Amino acid sequence: MSAKNWVIATGSSAVPPPVPGLEQTPYITNRDLFSFDRLPASMIILGAGPIAAEMAQAFNRLGTRVSVIQRSGQILSNEDKDLADGVMEVLKAEGVQFYLNTAILSAKDLGAEREVVIQTKGKNLFP
Ligand SMILES: Cc1cc2nc3c(=O)[nH]c(=O)nc-3n(C[C@H](O)[C@H](O)[C@H](O)COP(=O)(O)OP(=O)(O)OC[C@H]3O[C@@H](n4cnc5c(N)ncnc54)[C@H](O)[C@@H]3O)c2cc1C
Repeated sequence: MSAKNWVIATGSSAVPPPVPGLEQTPYITNRDLFSFDRLPASMIILGAGPIAAEMAQAFNRLGTRVSVIQRSGQILSNEDKDLADGVMEVLKAEGVQFYLNTAILSAKDLGAEREVVIQTKGKNLFP
């Protein structure tokens, strides 16, 4: 096969954030999110962009306990704050937990569960 121009459109892949311990901790990305053979009891979502918000709502509605960790002070950072806050309030009312202005310090595999250590305004929390 020959052509003057070629388009390579094989998609993108997720870039895991440089969180200490994450490489040794099993995690899923938006690529393999649809490959579960059973519903997870709980889920921590790192980041709160459109796919994160969409998946937080979907899994929460299916029955998973969902926590969303976001570095900045609002979800959907590219949107107006009043709109993003409105979406967050709806998701909160449905049961999604949000940790804004929160950094992930480390991740760890505990065997049956995974743990992340987070820092919100100077406090260490274990969600
Ligand atoms: C959960 C989720 C929700 C989303 N929601 C939205 C939304 O609401 N609105 C929106 O606009 N976008 C949404 N997106 C993003 C959207 O899916 C992507 O931006 C879009 O699919 C990218 O299209 P693409 O053609 O670049 O890549 P892909 O859709 O990833 O297509 C790449 C294709 O290339 C094939 N391929 C890979 N390697 C090879 C190879 N070596 N040889 C041959 N074929 C290969 C793959 O099998 C695949 O079929 C969402 C994404 C996710 C994960």
